[in-house]
Amino acid sequence: MNIPFVNLAKQFMALESELTEAFLEVGRSGNYIMGEKLEEFESAAAKFCDTSFAIGVADGSNALFLVLKAMGVGPGDEVITATNSFIASAWVIAATGAKPVLVDVGNDFNLHEENIAPAITARTRAIIPVHLTGRPAPMDEINALAQKHNFFVLEDAAQAIGAKYKGRRVGSLGLAAGFSLHPLKNLGVYGDGGLITTNDSSLNMALRKLRNHGLKNRDECEVWGFNSRLDAMQAAFASIKLKQLDEWNYRCREIASLYRNGIKDFVEVPLDQDWEECVYHNFVIRTEYRDELMQFLKDHGVDTRIHYPIPIHLQEAAKYLGYSKGAFPNAERYALSMISLPIYPELTDVEIEYI
Ligand SMILES: *Cc1c(COP(=O)(O)O)cnc(C)c1O
Repeated sequence: MNIPFVNLAKQFMALESELTEAFLEVGRSGNYIMGEKLEEFESAAAKFCDTSFAIGVADGSNALFLVLKAMGVGPGDEVITATNSFIASAWVIAATGAKPVLVDVGNDFNLHEENIAPAITARTRAIIPVHLTGRPAPMDEINALAQKHNFFVLEDAAQAIGAKYKGRRVGSLGLAAGFSLHPLKNLGVYGDGGLITTNDSSLNMALRKLRNHGLKNRDECEVWGFNSRLDAMQAAFASIKLKQLDEWNYRCREIASLYRNGIKDFVEVPLDQDWEECVYHNFVIRTEYRDELMQFLKDHGVDTRIHYPIPIHLQEAAKYLGYSKGAFPNAERYALSMISLPIYPELTDVEIEYI
């Protein structure tokens, strides 16, 4: 058997006629930027995430970056995030001129109070908890710290659309959230795409200007902005896929539980707490025989990955921040023992059994 790590074409083919119809509809409308298709997706996404507003943007990194900019984060400020994440969680902070303050993660790959508290200073303006692998970060703890120390919470929900924390959707748990619609994410389009959710109406207004050159209408520019919009075509595709997202996420949870039951005696498997619904963007196991197991799986046609082999604080780009090896023992240990197994709704039970 040959099982790829992802199989995006399989899902595309299942949706081909609906996507083609949307392509023709948008193509024939002549409206490719902003407009009705974007608005339709934004209201469906806001409804899905239980928020008042959703704003389509160019990609997930821009979603995070634009919220930081809208909140006035810049030089002299510090923003806390996890060192075991995709690098975008950190570079968006640096891109504002602020200092990324990296911290270690717990056994569930998420930020916890004991990791965050020592990193808080008078300059802390925000925290970006990452719902890594689709598992919600402990938002009650994080929001309580934010309130106590007067900084805001921006969820990096790039891997977690649809996940729930104590019955509430991620995206509705902080001041704002950034989602990625990159093809590899749980709700992926056919190119780059991103989404911001918030319940704050003035932030919503500011973000709508910032993503569109700072324009408040066709001709009047209030602030320098950016060109960071979600295309009408991608928005139309995203609307089609959003309708099936809960079903796909449910299947990923099902696959996770099949994996768990099959291998929990041999490797460390991710566990669900009863207050959370993880959407398993990745299914990350840990073993001290990591390299051997990856090779073994490869020899038997099973493609795997590591998310992420180099913690952000040990990246060349982060050198100026002054972290050394050993600074974050959990993340460094996990980086040497993690394997991500294939997980996507199109996997069959036979394939999972084989893996
Ligand atoms: C994918 C991802 C991003 C960035 O999203 P893009 O759409 O690729 O810009 C940010 N944070 C995390 C945790 C991600 O996985």
